[in-house]
Amino acid sequence: MAAYFCLNRLGIRGKHNEMNPPYCKIDMRCPRCGAPVVLDETECIVQCGFCKTRHVLHTEPFPSYYLEPGSNRPRASELLFVPYWRLRGMEFCFNGPEPVCRVMDHSCPAVDGTGLPVSLGLRTQTRPLKFIRKGLDGIFTVPDISKQAALDQMSGANGDKTYIGEILSLIFMPFYRDGSRMVDGLSGQVMDMVMPDLAADKTFPAHPLSFTPCLCPDCGWDLDGRTDSLVLSCKNCTSFWLIREKTLNRLSAVFSGLEPDPAVLLPFWRLQTGFSRATWSTHADLMRLANVPRGVTRDQEKQVLEFYIPAFRIAPKLFLRLAKQITLAPPALGRAEKIPKTALYPVTLSLDEGLQAVLPVLRTLVIPKKETLEILKTEKLTLTAFSLAYLSFQASGNDYVQGEAGIGFQKNALHAGNNS
Ligand SMILES: [Zn+2]
Ligand SMILES: [Zn+2]
Repeated sequence: MAAYFCLNRLGIRGKHNEMNPPYCKIDMRCPRCGAPVVLDETECIVQCGFCKTRHVLHTEPFPSYYLEPGSNRPRASELLFVPYWRLRGMEFCFNGPEPVCRVMDHSCPAVDGTGLPVSLGLRTQTRPLKFIRKGLDGIFTVPDISKQAALDQMSGANGDKTYIGEILSLIFMPFYRDGSRMVDGLSGQVMDMVMPDLAADKTFPAHPLSFTPCLCPDCGWDLDGRTDSLVLSCKNCTSFWLIREKTLNRLSAVFSGLEPDPAVLLPFWRLQTGFSRATWSTHADLMRLANVPRGVTRDQEKQVLEFYIPAFRIAPKLFLRLAKQITLAPPALGRAEKIPKTALYPVTLSLDEGLQAVLPVLRTLVIPKKETLEILKTEKLTLTAFSLAYLSFQASGNDYVQGEAGIGFQKNALHAGNNS
């Protein structure tokens, strides 16, 4: 059984008591001038300190890294790289009276090799990752455990669980032969295993990287946005761009009524979905499902059903609460003529993961009637329309407050990301 780190959101500690390890660092080079750049694994924009350019980095379907072996290995020894899945995200479990939410941070071998270390452990904390590139010395083992199988292993393949991924990558760990023994290429420690019969692959074990200059596709102006944001904006032509499918895609963004001096503008995915089983289509349907005591208005009978999913990292329990409250009572939204002066909070949860979160949000929002729960269990959603809604929050003591939606949360929840 693979070891994993987990932190239970309801205050009950999980299997291990470790805090989630910090994010990994990646050593790479600027695609323009070749200068060294250190990236966080959450970053999708390469910002070069030397030539001052910014490039969007595309690693779809997932990035493949390797850990550089230590210098203590015998010169003639043959290097073998073994792949591990690295997964980090939120898990929601609904088989009890209350949803159980937690952050999962996990690595496990992507091959079936007895005697391999069960996880990467702290190895990724002590040295930076590097992108796999052609011409690397060594033999690469082909992954034979799928991402889904690794996820099932992590969460126990329970149908009542939903996993919202944040990081998914493949990391190749180095080993070398010393006679018939296998040695950990990082620590030099002899492994308690014979050289495994792992299938070596002669083909390139990674999807090639590609880069797009961080310039507005419409007007050529420099795009704004933090280096970990999946959405960038152009203040010259007031346009928004979503990094997805190896390109920059035009995105429609709307704003809540801007209060005079908002402390923060938080992004939410505003999603319309098609249902495979359910017949819900209006906001009024949603209010009845949630048994909201206010009377349903005529307008709400016509208002298309929309979900509001936080598009940023935050603790899973708060993630569900914000999604539920804003979906039930969304503030009025409109387009902005100019990009607001208050910095836009970075979008760090992808559109696809946002869609994945709709069912868990519905599950927390509805009155748990047998019939409704039966529908939700097998429901399949399709995305029919989407935009990004920036909601303005005011600072009030230790809290951020959204007056119109009547919600608030502690400021430090935002700064702690989903580690809090
Ligand atoms: Zn550069
Ligand atoms: Zn522009």
